[in-house]
Amino acid sequence: MRFSRAYIPTTKESPKDAQLPSHIYLSRAGFVAQVASGLYNFLPLGKRVLRKIETIINEEMAACGALEVDLSFVTPAELWEESGRIEKFGKELLRFRDRKDNLFVLGPTHEEMMVSIVRNRVTSYKQLPLNVYQIKTKFRDEARPRFGLMRAREFVMKDGYSFHASTEDLDREFDAMEAAYKRILERLGLSFRIVEADSGAIGGTGSKELMVLAQSGEDTLAVCDTCEYGANVEAARRAPRSTVPEAPEADFAKFKTPNIKSIDDLSAFFHTDPFYTLKAVIKRAVYTEGSEPVCFFIRGCDELQEVKARNSVGAIDLVDITEEELREIGLVPGFVGPLDQDKTRFVMDNNTRDATSMICGANETDYHFVGVTLSVMNEASFADLVAVQEGDGCPHCGGKLLHTKGIEVGHIFKLGTVYSAPLKAEYLDENGRSQPFIMGTYGMGVSRLVAAVIEQHHDERGCIWTHATAPYMVNVMVSNIKEEAHMAYAETLYLELQSRGIETILDDRKERFGFKMSDAELIGFPLTVIIGKELENEQVQIMIRATREIITIDAAGILDKIEELTR
Ligand code: ATP
Ligand code: MG
Repeated sequence: MRFSRAYIPTTKESPKDAQLPSHIYLSRAGFVAQVASGLYNFLPLGKRVLRKIETIINEEMAACGALEVDLSFVTPAELWEESGRIEKFGKELLRFRDRKDNLFVLGPTHEEMMVSIVRNRVTSYKQLPLNVYQIKTKFRDEARPRFGLMRAREFVMKDGYSFHASTEDLDREFDAMEAAYKRILERLGLSFRIVEADSGAIGGTGSKELMVLAQSGEDTLAVCDTCEYGANVEAARRAPRSTVPEAPEADFAKFKTPNIKSIDDLSAFFHTDPFYTLKAVIKRAVYTEGSEPVCFFIRGCDELQEVKARNSVGAIDLVDITEEELREIGLVPGFVGPLDQDKTRFVMDNNTRDATSMICGANETDYHFVGVTLSVMNEASFADLVAVQEGDGCPHCGGKLLHTKGIEVGHIFKLGTVYSAPLKAEYLDENGRSQPFIMGTYGMGVSRLVAAVIEQHHDERGCIWTHATAPYMVNVMVSNIKEEAHMAYAETLYLELQSRGIETILDDRKERFGFKMSDAELIGFPLTVIIGKELENEQVQIMIRATREIITIDAAGILDKIEELTR
């Protein structure tokens, strides 16, 4: 491509609300252009990067025997009613009516549609397993579209679904997909981590996320400093404490604790470790229909993990509750405890099961109970509610857990029969019995990956594309296009590189050297060959974008050098 004929509208202006490097540079370097909140046009360079990522995904899927399809973006709302997900998905699902008044949704993910294409077509276990996928536009009316391509409303996703006659076969395919996803990210040149995850609104178990490691990531991961264990904090586990602090000595009693409301005040008052105090976190749980206050009890030394808490009651959201509301329900803010508490639904953290020597609210102003043995609560509902902290023990090896930030670029999980059962998608097993398909689902954020590459690879001057994602590998730049000999050399080099299969752009624009150089850095081509005065001494320079190192080499050896650098 000749730069003078290309459409690469670079600019010094950043989009006004942009904070993330990928948002700023992809816009400034002319890869994408915003249309409206969460909507982006891909310009020629952006489209090239997108296609490269898609090609790698397609190649790895083909190697696993997955079959590419292309499903209608517009899906009948009926399918979403059948699966019961129309309510659960809430406002992210964009609904509309056609001229005949039929209700449709813009596909935010395609489980229902994919089930519908095999339903009544795949009828026997002999036709299984099957793995079908597409790379397709998705629409989610995100509450807060932000960070450019990272959290858009319209975006490109690779979504794959597998169908099996046994859980063993699903497990095999799941492992194969995990390995394929790993290869895709390796080929893209990204550093990443595969972590245990929460399954979210889609439902299912055995969920794993592929996280590109970057400071700007929206997800917090707990990763072990010793073994491979890593998990999204929404799903992270920890080893039980190996030592516990000394317990306060007290028989069961009600104790006056005037105005002692916080865990800090409480543990100071009783000269005890917060481990022996019980923290009450009260939230309003919002369900698809209705809402209710719920009280979550955890040890005073722990923090509530909201996603775990939300899952423990099957809510779609947890919202804060005011002290006035608490009083209206009959709770005493600052003194809420689980004993004799019938005002709200409540859930106890697993770490409080059978706990002894505990101090907890007495549900009465200025009173706490001491010496509480929580085995009296054994009938209550228990769940893992706590947020894993840095320094906690790894549940696998006892190593130390650390926090790091990640960008979720992929999510794979075992759905089982969560969709096939309600949608009545069944096959006949070996004994002629009807069974719902056992399914897996494998998503990858293709357009988010474009941004993730830049979040991981950029500097203060712009993008630094990895070799696999670069829109062009080499930029051949002529300092002064009026120098005919320089232009002639550049032309020959440009054609020769292309004939060797190295994607090249020729910067033949009638612009100043400095201007072209800053464009080259902003756009982020891995290599820029600079053809200038040194050509008279048979020398040219190559700027390696990642390090900004400039090397001078003999013009005669340029092709070999470029092949070496791009290998
Ligand atoms: P997130 O937690 O980031 O909202 P999700 O759990 O809703 O993601 P999935 O439903 O698992 O995402 O979708 C599969 C993949 O699609 C995600 O791993 C992510 O890479 C991508 N993705 C999801 N939402 C968006 C979005 N709004 N913009 C761009 N990519 C997205
Ligand atoms: Mg989401």
